[in-house]
Amino acid sequence: METTERQHYWLPVPDRTGFTWHRHAFRGKYWDGRPSDTSVCGKPCAMAKPSELDWFQAPTCPDCTELLITEQSGTGNTEQPRTASPEQPDTGSAEGEQ
Ligand SMILES: [Zn+2]
Repeated sequence: METTERQHYWLPVPDRTGFTWHRHAFRGKYWDGRPSDTSVCGKPCAMAKPSELDWFQAPTCPDCTELLITEQSGTGNTEQPRTASPEQPDTGSAEGEQ
């Protein structure tokens, strides 16, 4: 069973110094070109289109990895997707009985 709700993608982003890059995970299906976002580990990141070298050199953020693993293993937890049950309107059966 795969939950499509919790999709994430990885993107190398520079940290505030701009010298070191890390590959953070972000919520969503893919990077849509936004200039910044908050990573799974809670860091506000400035995003830019990474080069192949960035992908190659940026180490994967251990915090993001840990959080995603925790989420995956935390099954049976609170978040259960509600099955959309159509609302049943009161058909007036209780009306006029008294
Ligand atoms: Zn991270």
